[in-house]
Amino acid sequence: TESAEDLKRLIREIPDFPKPGIIFYDITTLLKHPEGLRRTVDGLAAQLQGIKVDTVVGIEARGFIFAPALAYHLGAGFVPVRKPRKLPAERASITYELEYGQDTLEIHRDAIGDGHRVIIADDLLATGGTAKAVVDLVESLGGKVVGLVFVIELEFLNGRRRLEGYDVRSLIKYQ
Ligand code: IMP
Repeated sequence: TESAEDLKRLIREIPDFPKPGIIFYDITTLLKHPEGLRRTVDGLAAQLQGIKVDTVVGIEARGFIFAPALAYHLGAGFVPVRKPRKLPAERASITYELEYGQDTLEIHRDAIGDGHRVIIADDLLATGGTAKAVVDLVESLGGKVVGLVFVIELEFLNGRRRLEGYDVRSLIKYQ
C-alpha cells in the first residue's frame, strides 16, 4: 500500500552488517521520525483489529520498542521475552537453532496464564526461528497465540512457513 511505501522510505538499508553479504534493515531512522513512529504503531494496531488480546509479548531487544506501545494502544498488558539470566523470578527457557549456533530466550513463568490470548510482536520476521521459539514458550505456559505481528517481513526467507497455522501480519514487506 501507499503508506507502507512511505514507511519503507524511512528504513535505512545497511549492506554487509553485521556480516558480509547481509543487508541490515535499520529502523532507527523510522523511529526518530515523529510521523513514521506514529504511523508504525497505529499500523501495527490496525493489523490486529477485531482480535481480542490480553497480552502483547515483545522480544528483546527491538521488540521492546514496539510491543509496549502496541499493548498500550490495545488496552492489553506487556510481557518481555529476554536473553538468558536477565529475568529475576522463576523462568521458562527455550533454546533454538540459528543459522550458525543457537540462542536461548526466557520468560517469567507467571507472566502468562492458562488460556490468555497472546500477540507476539517484533521488529522483523526473517527465518521465523525466533518467533517460533517464542510461540513454543508462550504455549508451554498455557497461553493461546492469537497472532504475530512484525514491522518488517523478509518474504524471501519464508518465515511464515515456520509459523504455519498462526495468524502472521506485517506492515512492510521485502521480496
Ligand atoms: P529470525 O529468527 O531469522 O526470524 O530473525 C529475526 C530476529 O533477528 C528478530 O528478532 C530481528 O530483530 C533480528 N533481525 C534479523 N535481521 C534483521 C535486520 O535486518 N534488521 C533488524 N533486525 C533483524
